[in-house]
Amino acid sequence: MDPYETTELRRRTKIVATLGPATDDPQVLESLLLAGADVLRLNFSHGTTRQNSDRVRQVREISARIGRDVGLMCDLQGPKVRIERFARGVAVLGEGQRFTLDTAPDAGPGDESRVSVEYRDLVKDVTPGDMLLLDDGQIVLEVHEVDGAEVRCWVQRGGTLTNKKGLNKQGGGLSAPALSEKDRLDIGLAAQLGMDYVSVSFARNAADIEEARDLLRAAGGHGLICAKIERAEAVKNIEEIIDASDVIMVARGDLAVEVGYASMTSLQKRLIMETRNRSKVSITATQMLESMINNPSPTRAEVSDVANAVMDGTDAVMLSAETAIGRYPAEALRTMSSLCIGAERHETVRRPESYQPEEIFSRVDEAIALAAMYTANHLNVKAIIAFTESGSTALWMSRVRSDIPIFAFTRHETTRRRVTLYRGVYPATFDVCETEPSEVYRTAIQVLASERIVSKGDRVLFTAGGQRGVSGGTDTLQILEVGAEAELGDRSDTSIAHRWELSRRLRA
Ligand code: PGA
Ligand code: MN
Repeated sequence: MDPYETTELRRRTKIVATLGPATDDPQVLESLLLAGADVLRLNFSHGTTRQNSDRVRQVREISARIGRDVGLMCDLQGPKVRIERFARGVAVLGEGQRFTLDTAPDAGPGDESRVSVEYRDLVKDVTPGDMLLLDDGQIVLEVHEVDGAEVRCWVQRGGTLTNKKGLNKQGGGLSAPALSEKDRLDIGLAAQLGMDYVSVSFARNAADIEEARDLLRAAGGHGLICAKIERAEAVKNIEEIIDASDVIMVARGDLAVEVGYASMTSLQKRLIMETRNRSKVSITATQMLESMINNPSPTRAEVSDVANAVMDGTDAVMLSAETAIGRYPAEALRTMSSLCIGAERHETVRRPESYQPEEIFSRVDEAIALAAMYTANHLNVKAIIAFTESGSTALWMSRVRSDIPIFAFTRHETTRRRVTLYRGVYPATFDVCETEPSEVYRTAIQVLASERIVSKGDRVLFTAGGQRGVSGGTDTLQILEVGAEAELGDRSDTSIAHRWELSRRLRA
């Protein structure tokens, strides 16, 4: 029995799990949700429209049945540059031999000496001396010359190459636009399926992100936009990308190939920190428990990798092939969950070193959120309840390190599914507009008490807006003791309930 798997310890770091053939069995999917998957990712590089729609339907069915809000993320394929196929499905490349990448439209199937690449601009993007990496860097080619439609190379590191493997340029510089034709169609599908998050693969700059959001909104989608940082160019433009995005994914698979393994870890720390400082959400992705694709337990290096991402302050850690095609999807989830909880006990994770006291806020709701966290961290508070419409108060709160749970009480299902990704934030269904003003606090505390999250004598910190049901209106912070709120109904001076009552009377 894992000592961390006790019910009173709530995991704060969220887990994104990727769906695939291994999770199509409804029982496996249910076991993933019961093991604590917070957001499920559909990789639109694979699967037909039909398969993806079926997966979404199945997730909604099961999550409704077991009563858990889960977010859904669609991951667009993006312009990943790939080689095409070999006549025999495979080619063995030896070090020192010549090998040609052929971008001519009529280039046939490949062999030991050449292979076709559909990305025509490759010839413009490379010059002699460039290093091209195939299959996540397993095979390395040095560009020798560019002639017409052909890129002729020397094999620097050989190996076995199979169909459709990815191709990256060391240092970045493949200039394909982030949204392909297929991605544009897939954004329409994401809107139709009500996806909560849409990830833009190989994003280069803020414009790529804005374009994806515009297309999604035009198609009627409500999803937030995640920028996958997997190109060297994206790192150069990181500030504008973070500002344009809602979520940043440290997409270490492609990113490590482009920037080099040696800079990957410090870059991960920097990306997570910058994202958090700019009040946005981060996901750390790829190969976190890679060995669990085939084994029921992780390597020690993987154990450290997950824990370090948690200590870096990531909102979420992600499982890819481990759940999509792995032999132990639920075990991988449970392992990751306990690793997160273990790491969250570390001193530096539980409370912040500083509160950026010089910060000047432009928004009242943001200032209230930060004041709430300062208060909660310095007073004995058991739980935080944010009455929220869009989830942004909860998001701002969760940018401050803390070990106090933040509950996003909201009437909107889309908000509940969205906050599943925010570190330390838990969704709860609650309609402030449908509750008697004088009963709101009592009822809200009841919700937590019935889950045994709080009990008599505990302090609960609330944030709310003077006008109920208005987005961005949070302007009040209040602390109540569980048990003492019983008299609240009779206390007409309790500020926020009083204001709600007033505004109701004024409207009536
Ligand atoms: P992918 O992106 O899984 O879609 O390749 C993540 C990464 O590159 O790390
Ligand atoms: Mn990638």
